[in-house]
Amino acid sequence: MSISQIAREIKESPTLKLNEEAMILREKGEPVINMGVGEPTNKAPITAILGSAAKLKDGNVKYTPVDGTRSLKKAIIRYTEENYGQLPAPENVIVSTGAKQAIFNLLFSIIDPQDEVIILAPYWVSYPEMVKMVHGMPVIVTPEDGTFRPRLDEIEQAVSSYTRAIIVNSPNNPSGVIYSEELIAGLVDFCERKNVYLIMDDIYHKLVFDGKPVPSAYRYTSRDIETTHIVVINGVSKLYGMTGFRIGWAIANRKLVEVMTNVQAQTTSSPSMVSQAAAESALTGVQSIVENLRLGIQNNRDVTMQELQTFTDVKVNKPDGTFYCLPDFRAYCSDSVELAHFLLRKALVVTVPGKEFGMEGFIRLSFSGTVKGIIEAVDRMKWALDPNAPNDIYIGDRKFIRDWM
Ligand code: PMP
Repeated sequence: MSISQIAREIKESPTLKLNEEAMILREKGEPVINMGVGEPTNKAPITAILGSAAKLKDGNVKYTPVDGTRSLKKAIIRYTEENYGQLPAPENVIVSTGAKQAIFNLLFSIIDPQDEVIILAPYWVSYPEMVKMVHGMPVIVTPEDGTFRPRLDEIEQAVSSYTRAIIVNSPNNPSGVIYSEELIAGLVDFCERKNVYLIMDDIYHKLVFDGKPVPSAYRYTSRDIETTHIVVINGVSKLYGMTGFRIGWAIANRKLVEVMTNVQAQTTSSPSMVSQAAAESALTGVQSIVENLRLGIQNNRDVTMQELQTFTDVKVNKPDGTFYCLPDFRAYCSDSVELAHFLLRKALVVTVPGKEFGMEGFIRLSFSGTVKGIIEAVDRMKWALDPNAPNDIYIGDRKFIRDWM
């Protein structure tokens, strides 16, 4: 069987293997705790359910315009005006099957073979793979000081005449860091001078803690949407915990949206009409769900930090947003894939190896679950790794003795 060169180069995700192993353990009745999830655990807003149910009841479920229904675009325009102080035209908006497809369409539309895209580590796993899928070259910038905050000069040094775009994800998956105003302002200025696209993946921009502001790139440009190099990506997945509806969007200049629409037209056509109705209803419905979700996750963040502080040799930066943190486990194991497998087998806790995000020796923990789950998961991890933790533990109703130290 022949497989294309490009497909062969797409990395297998270590998380898939971990999830498979976790599933087998769960099927055996083992009390596995999942600290690896990439989604909020709330139910979808009732307005979204009713909006999509109305479409289903009507039965007239068909294709929509490739770039999204007019009414959803209207809701996205209003969202952009309220949250970014920008008023895009409908032709500046394209709705896709998740933010993921929006990013892929965008990269497909701007990258020629060998063009480079700057990605800031730690990064969302899909960025480098997507860049490779469109025959581009990912160029990774890793902050040297362990803060997860790249400096502008580090980024500028990585730029070459082949650079077409810089991808910024702030608040950041997996570190929870919000980049500073200075960095965002500097990047806007740099990208506009150098004719480089600044892709702002804002998917977590409302999931922030302690009133920390998230600098919006638009604030630092005097150009309008037609002439700026900023492209903003957003969606309902993290905003409302609506990951399964698969609706995201991009705001960009008309020409780019037109090309992205052609790409989408030849691949998936429009996103599902039912999901678009759900997204529209969520965006135009009561917004208290966003704040409730944020408050719950902020509390979980505090519990996670409190628990991790008692872990003897684990260092962790307190996240300012998202529902992830990226603790440094190098004192216990420098191979994060090996460590994640060890934690699953011994402690029955699912985590994501930092290697996936360009941060070997780190582990991503998701705190979108329950307080009880978080406390128990960290307790079990301490028992498995920390010599200062008690030698025995109850997992489910069984007592386990640590015999590997
Ligand atoms: N960007 C980042 C940084 C993400 O973490 C995710 C989801 N894990 C996405 C984009 C994709 O979101 P969607 O569900 O809208 O495709």
